Amino acid sequence: MIRLPSLLLATFSLLSWAQVPKPEGPAARLKVMLDPGHGGEDGGARGPKGLKEKTAALELARVVSAKLEAAGFEAVSTREDDTLVPLWDRAKAANEQGADLFISLHLNAARAKAARGSEVYFLSLGKGKDDDVAAAENAGAGSPAGSPDSVVASILDDLAQKAYLQDSERLAVALQGQLNHLAGIKERGVKQAPFIVLRGAAMPAVLVEVAFISNPKEEKKLQDAAFRAMVADAITQGVRRYFAGANGSVRRRMVGGRS
Ligand SMILES: [Zn+2]
Repeated sequence: MIRLPSLLLATFSLLSWAQVPKPEGPAARLKVMLDPGHGGEDGGARGPKGLKEKTAALELARVVSAKLEAAGFEAVSTREDDTLVPLWDRAKAANEQGADLFISLHLNAARAKAARGSEVYFLSLGKGKDDDVAAAENAGAGSPAGSPDSVVASILDDLAQKAYLQDSERLAVALQGQLNHLAGIKERGVKQAPFIVLRGAAMPAVLVEVAFISNPKEEKKLQDAAFRAMVADAITQGVRRYFAGANGSVRRRMVGGRS
């Protein structure tokens, strides 16, 4: 049995502890986890002139990262060099780092050489008509570590992203709008597909197929620094609009001592 005086004392101690001023520090910036697709032995799609998706995605991520930082966000990345990070570990890294957004960057490939422009996806938990793009991107996944628990892990992964699907769609719409504007494409909307890399993300998460590496013109543009800068500006603007539309409901973390 708890005696009342000690309970009061415990409550009082808790209250006075709570009133101790927290160490002064700048408010944490909103953190965006960028995820350049593929890497290492997984080259991803390949352009007609030989540009590898893994290389183009990494280059884009570097520029997007710089633009986000310049706009006041904190940008982190699932890979900084040409290494293969398993798909299952990418959202996990974003969760561990407490990222506010997860943006996976890829390049599209299509049989039709004229296919062009950007497509932004968020997770579909069921089967969808855009599964062929997801199948190509999921190919390098392998299986999650700890296979006896993989079924349970996979259900938990789905639950993680399920809570953020509406916000993920809103983020996808914000990014697609900016990228359509950049490419001069009006009609393209966001899509939903079962991308493994998005499943475990406990935050709004999207996959951007920035351009068609299979289109000779877009393959060439991807090697142009000015084009990459424009794409990065469009993505940064999309991220800003997403947060601006959140009307103060955005989760802001206060972490002391970080700049
Ligand atoms: Zn890809």
